[in-house]
Amino acid sequence: MMRLPWFDYRAPRSIAEAAKILAGEGPQAMLIAGGTDLLPNMKRRHQTPKVLVSLKGIPELKKVSNGSGIVFGSGLTLSEILNIEKTPTALRQATAQIATAHLRNMGTLGGNLCLDTRCTYYNQNYEWRKAIDFCLKKDGATCWVATASKRCVAVSSTDTAPALIALNASVVLTGSSGEREIPVDALYRNDGIEYLSRRPDEILTAIKIPQKNFKSTYWKLRRRGSFDFPILGVAVALRFSSGNIIQDARVALGAVASRPFLVEKASEYLKGKALSDDVIAEACAMIASRAKPMDNTDMDLYWRKEVADDFAGYALRELRGDDMRAMRMRIARQELTG
Ligand SMILES: Cc1cc2nc3c(=O)[nH]c(=O)nc-3n(C[C@H](O)[C@H](O)[C@H](O)COP(=O)(O)OP(=O)(O)OC[C@H]3O[C@@H](n4cnc5c(N)ncnc54)[C@H](O)[C@@H]3O)c2cc1C
Repeated sequence: MMRLPWFDYRAPRSIAEAAKILAGEGPQAMLIAGGTDLLPNMKRRHQTPKVLVSLKGIPELKKVSNGSGIVFGSGLTLSEILNIEKTPTALRQATAQIATAHLRNMGTLGGNLCLDTRCTYYNQNYEWRKAIDFCLKKDGATCWVATASKRCVAVSSTDTAPALIALNASVVLTGSSGEREIPVDALYRNDGIEYLSRRPDEILTAIKIPQKNFKSTYWKLRRRGSFDFPILGVAVALRFSSGNIIQDARVALGAVASRPFLVEKASEYLKGKALSDDVIAEACAMIASRAKPMDNTDMDLYWRKEVADDFAGYALRELRGDDMRAMRMRIARQELTG
């Protein structure tokens, strides 16, 4: 049995109190929301904070507000996000495919956005990692995926981040010295260790989605259709004019680098066009060319790169109005294999 290391537990009642504790305790403290990622990581000794600052008892983090867009408190659980009527489609589809119902009842949207990066050589117990002299991400000096690499290439595995990037969402980060708002895209860095631009004393307090009549969708590749981390995520949000011409487009990829990111070239290319088969094929080639998966997660690396083109096509065809339900079922039934 893997046991948790000892830690002190703090339970603040407001964001201000949590920020004060975090600033006072310094790097030995970590935030905990649902704990569905952090506690298994602590059991495997990936993270060994001396102090856990719980966000569970902070009512401000549970708020939802509607105006010209929608604002979600970061402490809403994934199940709660699914129960909110105005949750945009791409976010709903991404959230519904995270883990299992039990984990979605505990896991939060904020925790999902701050999820640790993953790698075959890292997501192992302490003894396994020790047997290979650890790895660059934790306790070692070598990246076993790319041995010449000075940078850790662990992969971003959050499902909601690409969906939120496509939806042009931003996050609010609150620290003891104030608050700032940045696009979700800017929350991430392409570094498996320092994967967030969040400062250590900051709490991700809210997620803001400007609703601008976008039609959106999220397509996820994973080994098991029942539950599994993504090994490819394609999110697309499009705004159409009355003549079905694309006025605004945002395409984002997840799980193919250490950060989720906006595919700028394809997003720009789609603007002003109708979704003909030729336009879809051209956009898919642009999207797939940006997918650079590494050999550090499930399924064959080259196959995962190849299917990025297919998945982008499924997303665009669905937004064109094609009936893609049979393809979604095939993916859920694991009929695609690499
Ligand atoms: C079996 C299993 C399957 C899973 N499958 C998936 C999957 O398919 N897709 C997926 O995306 N995830 C998956 N997860 C991971 C996890 O369950 C979810 O990502 C969940 O949303 C994490 O949220 P949490 O509140 O539990 O985060 P926690 O575990 O509490 O925290 C995660 C990290 O975020 C930080 N953090 C939490 N809240 C904040 C905040 N408000 N501000 C700043 N930092 C914060 C913590 O310090 C920690 O570093 C899976 C987990 C398990 C155990």
